[in-house]
Amino acid sequence: MDQWRKGRVIENRHWNERLCSLKVAVELPVFKAGQFTRVALPDGDDMLARAYSLVNAPGEPYAEFYFNKVPEGPLSTRLHQLKRGDPLYISTTAAGFLTLSEVPECQHLWMLATGTALGPFLSILKTDEPWRRMDKIVLVHGVRSPDELTYQSVIQGFIAQHPERFESVACVTREQISGTLPQRIPEAISSGDLERAAALTFDPAQTQVMICGSPAMVADSMAALKEKGLRKHRRREPGHISVEIYK
Ligand SMILES: Cc1cc2nc3c(=O)[nH]c(=O)nc-3n(C[C@H](O)[C@H](O)[C@H](O)COP(=O)(O)OP(=O)(O)OC[C@H]3O[C@@H](n4cnc5c(N)ncnc54)[C@H](O)[C@@H]3O)c2cc1C
Repeated sequence: MDQWRKGRVIENRHWNERLCSLKVAVELPVFKAGQFTRVALPDGDDMLARAYSLVNAPGEPYAEFYFNKVPEGPLSTRLHQLKRGDPLYISTTAAGFLTLSEVPECQHLWMLATGTALGPFLSILKTDEPWRRMDKIVLVHGVRSPDELTYQSVIQGFIAQHPERFESVACVTREQISGTLPQRIPEAISSGDLERAAALTFDPAQTQVMICGSPAMVADSMAALKEKGLRKHRRREPGHISVEIYK
């Protein structure tokens, strides 16, 4: 059973008609970058709760969630409407295995995200750990349209801090945008376009991949990576791919 801490909305940034980032003043659970917690609003005598990844890094003085308004979605449509000062509830615990503590040592780290699944990777990239452990990091964000390429100033900040070690690649499927790939992430893996765009190969001897997104995106990306010789990482059977599925 969840226990709840009451928080207050500091900001509800609407990037477009669907995408939002909520910043919340709340006592945060202990968490590792990349983990999720549960967010809730009262619903009659119950709480209506869903899992959301934390976009903020441990130590930042607020909680941040990045989400989209799912059509007819019970909670996301209500979160979308929240205003500064409104109350909402955060679980007292965090969970999830999309963390660097689960990722074996490697030289090259790829982070593959679609849509709002970008959030946990921003949390990880804000910490020191990936920059201490990996030589090169590639962040891949798959979206349908360019107005979904959010958090560009944060990503530009990583590029400015680590120009030789960080690559950011966007895959935009519904419009041709210069400087982006026009395929879904799995197709960009299979075609080799993603490796060319990042100037890095999926060499199994050097590579770890973290994937976050919908069930279809995660399954299709894993299948494409398998063709490159990478397999799922398990604690008892070390491999190359760690995943979190938003469903
Ligand atoms: C571990 C975990 C972490 C998650 N973190 C995030 C996050 O950081 N940001 C986020 O936006 N969502 C996240 N989700 C999904 C989130 O928990 C909700 O399901 C989503 O916000 C919709 O909630 P809802 O109550 O409006 O509709 P629901 O009743 O939960 O879902 C309605 C439908 O929408 C689909 N759906 C779920 N998530 C999405 C999505 N992101 N985009 C499109 N369709 C979706 C569901 O599969 C379902 O078919 C996460 C899910 C899990 C399991």
